[in-house]
Amino acid sequence: MANSARGGTPTGTGGLNPGDDAKPGTPGSGENTCPACGGSGRVENAPCQECGGTGVVTEGIGGG
Ligand SMILES: [Zn+2]
Repeated sequence: MANSARGGTPTGTGGLNPGDDAKPGTPGSGENTCPACGGSGRVENAPCQECGGTGVVTEGIGGG
């Protein structure tokens, strides 16, 4: 158990959106349609801030 690497993204592809509950690829998590924009990625002609314009949010499954 040596977790020396903390923070810092390898290629900058990371980054959580406000609507994300877990990091993409996290075991036990999955993508759900963003409830804020309904999956369109846009709200009132502006990028949805919940999902970052992706239309999906990553949420934990079976979590509390
Ligand atoms: Zn959204």
